[in-house]
Order: sequence, then C-alpha cells, then structure tokens
Amino acid sequence: MWSALLRSDRLVPNVIVFGLQWGDEGKGKIVDRLAERADIVVRYQGGHNAGHTLVVGTETFKLSLLPSGIIRDGTRCVIGNGVVVDPWALQTELRTLRQRGVNITSETLAIADSAALILPLHAELDGLREAAAAGQRIGTTGRGIGPAYEDKVGRRAVRLADLRDSASLDDALRRLLTHHDPLRMGLGASKIDRHQLTEQLETIAPTLLEFAHPTGWIARHWIRPARRALFEGAQGAMLDLDHGTYPFVTSSNTVPSGAGVGSGVDAEAIGFALAVCKAYATRVGSGPFPSELPTGPIHDHLSRMGKEMGTVTGRQRRCGWFDAVAARHACEISGARAIALTKIDVLDGLDTIQICVGYRIDGQTIDYLPTRSREQVQAEPVLETMPGWTTPTAGVRSMSELPSEAAAYIRRIEALLKRPISIISTSPRRDDTIIRNDPFEAA
Ligand code: IMP
Repeated sequence: MWSALLRSDRLVPNVIVFGLQWGDEGKGKIVDRLAERADIVVRYQGGHNAGHTLVVGTETFKLSLLPSGIIRDGTRCVIGNGVVVDPWALQTELRTLRQRGVNITSETLAIADSAALILPLHAELDGLREAAAAGQRIGTTGRGIGPAYEDKVGRRAVRLADLRDSASLDDALRRLLTHHDPLRMGLGASKIDRHQLTEQLETIAPTLLEFAHPTGWIARHWIRPARRALFEGAQGAMLDLDHGTYPFVTSSNTVPSGAGVGSGVDAEAIGFALAVCKAYATRVGSGPFPSELPTGPIHDHLSRMGKEMGTVTGRQRRCGWFDAVAARHACEISGARAIALTKIDVLDGLDTIQICVGYRIDGQTIDYLPTRSREQVQAEPVLETMPGWTTPTAGVRSMSELPSEAAAYIRRIEALLKRPISIISTSPRRDDTIIRNDPFEAA
C-alpha cells in the first residue's frame, strides 16, 4: 500500500538546467539545444541580471529576462512567480526580438501575475548602496535585483497583478513608498513622486498584462500538461542566496529546488537536474574565488579565447582553473544528476591545465567549502596538474575525435564530481556539441 502511495502516477520527463559555478557557464546554448525537445521553457528566479547568449546559424541573440526557448517557433515560455520583472527591460527585450522577426504572443509567453516588479527606485537603490559600501561592494549588476527581492520578502512589493486596477496599484505603491521614502532620504536621495510612478506603471501595464496569468493557472494549463518541460536556471549555484559564497551572491535561490517555489509546481515535476559548468571557472563582480588566476598569459588566454566579458554589464570576468571543491559542493546541495561541460575548446593550446582539488586555509587542507566568507577569501587552491592538448577540440562532435588528454581531463572531472558528464560543448555554435546521454531520455 505504501509503495502504491509513494509511486508517482506519472513519470516526469522534465529537465532542469542550472549553473554549477558563478553564472555564465553557457547555459543558454544547452537550454536552447534541449528546447528542441521541450514544449515549454520556464524561468523561475533572477531577473534581467541574467544574460544568455544564443548562437543560431549566423545569428546571435542576447536574452536577459525571456526564457531561451523564446526564439523557437511554437515553444511556450513562462516567466515564473520567482522571477523579478522589470517592466521596461521586458518591453525593450520584446521589442528587440520582435524587430528581428521572433513571434511572441500570449500563446507563447505567460508571466505569473504574482511576480514582483523591479521599479526604477530599485536600480537606484542598488547603485546608492554599492556606492556607500566602498571596499565591501558586492559588485551587483546594478539592475535592482536585490532591492526588489528585499521588498518581496518585506511584503511590500508591487506585483504584476497590482497593475490590473488602480486601487490595487495605489495600495501597493503607498505601502512600498512608506518604506522607501525614509530610506532614500537617509541615503541623500529625494522622495519618489508617487503620481509620476503610477502614471509610468499605468502606461506600461498593457504590455505586461497581455501575458499575465495566476501561477496556478500556468501550472495547470501550461506546465503540467506539457509533454516535456524545461526549467531554465539563471546565475549559478555558487551565487545561490543560501548555498553560495554569501554575502557575495545574488538574491534568489538559483539551485533546482528553487524551481518548485519559483514556478508553482511540486518538486516531482522538476525532473532531471542537469548542471552546466565550464571546463574552467569565471566570476564577475566581487567575492571569493579560490582558483582565480593572477593576470598573466594563462588568464589572458582564458579571457580572450572564452570571450569572458559580461553579457549584461560588459564587465571583464575574472578567470581561474576549474574548482572541483566548489563544483562538488554545488553538486551536493543541488542534487545534480549529470553535468554539461562547456567551453572545453577554450583550453585548447595550453601546455598544462590545473584543477583545484582542495583549499589550504591557515596551514590546513580541506576539501569542502567553508561557510565563513573570511575563510573563503583566505583559501589557497591545492592544484593538480594535467597535460594539455595540441589537437584542437573546437568544433568536435564526438568523443572519439577528442584528443586523449582532453578525454582524460573530462574523466578526471567526472571522478572528482562523482557525476557523469553527459554533454560536452566544443564551441558556441549549436551543433558543436557531444551528447553522450540525452537528459530527456535519462529523466
Ligand atoms: P545581482 O544579482 O545584480 O544582485 O548581483 C549579485 C552578484 O551576482 C554579483 O556578483 C553579480 O556579478 C552576480 N551576477 C548576477 N547575475 C549574474 C549572471 O547572470 N552571471 C554572472 N554573475 C551574475
């Protein structure tokens, strides 16, 4: 009887793709490849701090808020309740994609109407705070993500549904400004002109409300009946609010379990967790990064070959060796079932490659991520050296074509993470991918 109760009545072939490092792992390409096989792609956290680059044929698309499935005809896309939505950023993204011929209608895009909105005052506050925190800056994207989530948790956010009628909007704005006006004045900024903000929101409301639905409706009518749903994580597990390198993190739960809360489906619906990680590591913004390389030829190589420039902010990313300690921590707290390893071609041409397999702190060697930020900052990497390869991996589409040293590097990462590497990406192009195991088959 218990086994009957415990058995699910429907095996869910869904997949969640999320970043295992500090974001920028190349999730967009993996999501896009898998979107071919999914009928719905769901974003569940973050906002327009994310930046996904998709290369389709000769065309490059840069997305921030819209799920990567949006450029595929007929793939439905959902912006879940866990996402913070900047109405103006969304409007710009919709306009840009439509100008390029992408068809986006209320049949293909749904936005949860309980999603909290990012208002201009949030980005301003992000800037004011960062300016005031000299020496202790998080290095945020300046998009107002943190302040918008704070308002959500503080139960004073303006939510998309509040745009449906002027009484709700008025209530929500009054509640919000009771908090923000004194805060702004303390930081030397002026009070918000509520009437002007109301007008701005009323003007933009129709653009968003065209796609707005209650979360339950989206779960019932779009996500649940889908043959295959794909959940698309933004940022990465090391930037997760609870599990990352706190306080140098983003303000949402980036790990797969965040997808249930952030889209209104139960944990079972989330399906197979596929972790995307780069064959090396990068980080943008401040915060501990034990395997970071000093500026010099190897850092330059990774930065140049990997085009390590932020999609959203244009900031130069910090580069380092693959950090197996951080990546294993991320696997453990996220329930990653398999790995998609990206950008292996960026390592082409290096004589030797190193992997961080432990941290040395105060003369002690440990193989886990310490919780205190001070210890994370002090951590010196314990490095293992492997031979590089001379035959390029760029554009390779099967395991047998990989140089043996690259295959050995892949096997070593699998052993360190105790997870199979199912997908290997060998260039930004959609087809330059080795699929060893199809995650939708494994789901
Ligand atoms: P926020 O998300 O703008 O609050 O920024 C918090 C931290 O997360 C900063 O270190 C950002 O650089 C980082 N971050 C936010 N979004 C991304 C992303 O999509 N890729 C990489 N880093 C990100």
